[in-house]
Amino acid sequence: MICEMCGNNVPATRACMVEGTMLNLCPNCSKFGDSYKPSNRSEERSSYSGGTNNAVIKERLERREKRMQTRDIYSANGGVELITDYGEVVRKAREKKGLTAEEFAKSINEKKGTIVKIESQTLVPDDKLISKLEKALSIKLKAAMTDGGVVGGGQKSQGMTLGNFIKTEKK
Ligand SMILES: [Zn+2]
Repeated sequence: MICEMCGNNVPATRACMVEGTMLNLCPNCSKFGDSYKPSNRSEERSSYSGGTNNAVIKERLERREKRMQTRDIYSANGGVELITDYGEVVRKAREKKGLTAEEFAKSINEKKGTIVKIESQTLVPDDKLISKLEKALSIKLKAAMTDGGVVGGGQKSQGMTLGNFIKTEKK
């Protein structure tokens, strides 16, 4: 089977949750994700109910820590990041269209205050709003991250592999 993260052909892959996406991962990569359990969380809890011992707590903490690290590696939106001067890009594109902030807000069903805040970069638009803005103004507000700098020192080449994978998968 092919690991969906590093692309290695391995005898068996494990279904893992990585940032809400189910991926079949080799044992090496599966540590980046949570084990995928089709059953819901309450069931998992009840199976531990015999005694919540320290080992279980420790394992959960470690798992949470790994999840945080994974989040750090490629940020919340999967390898692409909001560009740093998004406010200016939005404002310029809007002005080019000859719209006031209010007119523009109306045209995309948002509040004027939302647009003003985005343009002054006091509000970070969510993914939905970003794509709305991109469509309405024919602009790009997201850019693929560079590999340098973002990957923490603790993560070695696997972090890079992960970043590369996400980048090629989610264009
Ligand atoms: Zn792998």
